[in-house]
This record gives sequence, structure tokens and C-alpha cells, in this order.
Amino acid sequence: MNSADGSPSTAIIDAEAIAHNVGTVAEYVRPAKVMAAIKADGYGHGIVTAARAALAGGADWLGTAHLSEAQQLRAEGIDAPILAWLHSRDTDFSAAIGEHIDLGVSGWELDRIAEAAQARQRPARVHLKIDTGLSRNGATIEAWPEVVAQAAQHQRHGLISVEGIFTHFAVADEPDRKETDEQLEVFREALSIAEQHGVVPALRHAANSPAALSRPDAHFDMVRVGVSIYGQSPFADRTAESLGLRPAMELRSTLANVKRVPAGQGVSYGLTYRVDAPTTLGLVPLGYGDGIPRIAVGGPVLINRRRCYSAGRVAMDQFVVDLGPDSDAQIGDEVTVFGGDSGISAAEWGAAAQTINYEIITRIGARVPRVVINQPEERLAETG
Ligand SMILES: *Cc1c(COP(=O)(O)O)cnc(C)c1O
Repeated sequence: MNSADGSPSTAIIDAEAIAHNVGTVAEYVRPAKVMAAIKADGYGHGIVTAARAALAGGADWLGTAHLSEAQQLRAEGIDAPILAWLHSRDTDFSAAIGEHIDLGVSGWELDRIAEAAQARQRPARVHLKIDTGLSRNGATIEAWPEVVAQAAQHQRHGLISVEGIFTHFAVADEPDRKETDEQLEVFREALSIAEQHGVVPALRHAANSPAALSRPDAHFDMVRVGVSIYGQSPFADRTAESLGLRPAMELRSTLANVKRVPAGQGVSYGLTYRVDAPTTLGLVPLGYGDGIPRIAVGGPVLINRRRCYSAGRVAMDQFVVDLGPDSDAQIGDEVTVFGGDSGISAAEWGAAAQTINYEIITRIGARVPRVVINQPEERLAETG
């Protein structure tokens, strides 16, 4: 299935799979709520597609990094609760208040947010973030009492409403590491300090996908899950299938060329790959301009139900696969890079490229058209 615009490649996005995966995660974490992380264009699946599918699957909240991402959803008429957590000096907090978008706050934002609330005559909804060890956003435990005191004061003045307190884990994808326990300990301490200041929000949240799936003691009132709702395993040693997750992105292309080459033939820039016997090479019109990492070596693809592997360097627009000596593949034959029923996971491409499935799916480029299948509205139309 290729798109109408004649593009040689397509990312097929299965909205039903996203909805299913949200339901699966919800089962793991019940009674905690589920926030679907749809930042970075829904991890490459399309931000609006991902948001609508996640809500159809029962997500209670949506999570974005940038405020602009949250605003994009509001512009599409999505009125579910949204939290945006990564701001800069230029972030328009006033707009967030106007559009009912909750704001993650490390500390420095508080006065600006309160100012915006004062001007709007309407309280801002914030979630205070405690840095329990990741060292990214959030107040350190040393700065925390001051941040909480400041928030409490703004709350008394009716300028903010503290809806949540949250943190983010550093090593939850490695369930045996003790640092997650240490982070949980700091989180509990932060909650108790907040309580002493009279700040007791209804939403305490900490868990990302790996913690949601492996640490019930980290579920609190809500989990924030991204990679798992796209049907990807957050663990290096567990498949998505074993977790009950269905990959939501299938990357397909078609062979743009096929040729026989003699033994000794070098392949692609640098001639880093040489065939040791006569073989057939196929050309896949996807490259690093489409998000297939240049560094990937021996990435798998499925052609005519046979697995073959990329040969030589991935270029900007294309890579070559070694189809083997007895291949009868033709120009135009379908290529599945990962997903669908190919048996190839984005994680395998991650391994070939010294990265993780998260990066592979998220970086599939804008040149690859997304074709959304099994949308919730379609399902309703079919069954209704
Ligand atoms: C991206 C993100 C998540 C989701 O992480 P996954 O591992 O994809 O589930 C949760 N919380 C924060 C703060 C994030 O930035």
C-alpha cells in the first residue's frame, strides 16, 4: 500500500494498535490514570493521529514537551487534559492559561506564570517537578522547599492551582538497578515536604513506560507513557509482543532497482561492503533523509517473505540490500523495513544503528507519507 502522491515509501500507522496499547497499559496500572506522551509528532506517528487514537483507547491525559505541541492539539479541537513540561524564556504562559493547558514547572517559571495569571485574571494549572536524580528538568531536593513555598503562596493568591507533582526516572528500563528505588525515595520525601506546605495535589506521577510495566510501586495516581503506546518495548531484553503490545508503525517501500553483480563487487559509498560471490542487489529508496540512520549496518528488511539485510552504507535517499544469489525479486516488489507482520521490529534497526527503537520510529522523516489505518471513526462507522 503506497500513498496516492506516488511516494515510493509509506509509514502505515495503525490507530487501532495505539488504542489497544493504551488499553493494555491501563490494565497494568489500574487504578492509576494514563497520560499518553504524544510529543515529537507522536513519536513519529503523527501528533493528532496519536492523540485521537490514545483517547479512543482510554487515555485520561495527553503529554507534550513543548507548549506549541499542546496548542496544536487544541487547534484540532481536542479538549482532553494536556500537560506540557518543557519551556523556554519565550514560552507564552498566558496562552497556556487561555487554552487550559497544564504546565510542568521546575521553579523558574513560577513567577512568570503567576504574572500571566494575574493579567488574565484566571489561575494557571501547574504540576511541580522534582528532579529526583535524572538531572534534567525539575527542582533539586535542595531547592524544593523554596519552590513549594513559592507555589503555595501563589496558590493562596489564586494565581496558580497545583494540580500535580511529578518526577522522571533515569534507569527504569533496567529494572534491576537500585537508582529507581533511590529516586522513589526522594520523590516521597518531596511529596511530604509539599504536604507540610499544604500542597497536596490529586495527581502524583512518576512512571514512564518501563516503570509503568515493571514497577507497580511507581504508579501513584497516573503514569506517563510514550513508547509502549506505539507498540514498542521499553526494555532491551523483552519484545513488545511479550508485553501485550502491538507495533503501530509499519515502514514499507518498494524496490527501486534490482541487479546482478559479480563476486568482489563493492557496494555504496566507501565500498565498505563487498560481495564474496555473485549475487543480486536490490535498491530501497529510503535513506538518512527519511530517518534510516547512516550508521546502520546490516539492517533487516522483508522482501517476498524473505529476510535480507542492508549492504554497505545507508545514503541520504537510498540503501542497498543483498537479495542473495537465487533471488527472483523484481523492481517494484514490496519491502517491509519494520512492523506489520514482517517479524522485524524497530528495535532491530535500533540495534543495527547503535540506538533504540524510540529513535528509529521518532525520526522517520517528513518525506515518508503517513497513511493512517483503523481510525476510531472508521471503526465506529463500520460497526455502527
Ligand atoms: C517522553 C516522556 C515520557 C514517556 O516516556 P516513555 O519511556 O516513552 O514512556 C514520560 N515523561 C516524560 C517527562 C517524558 O519526557
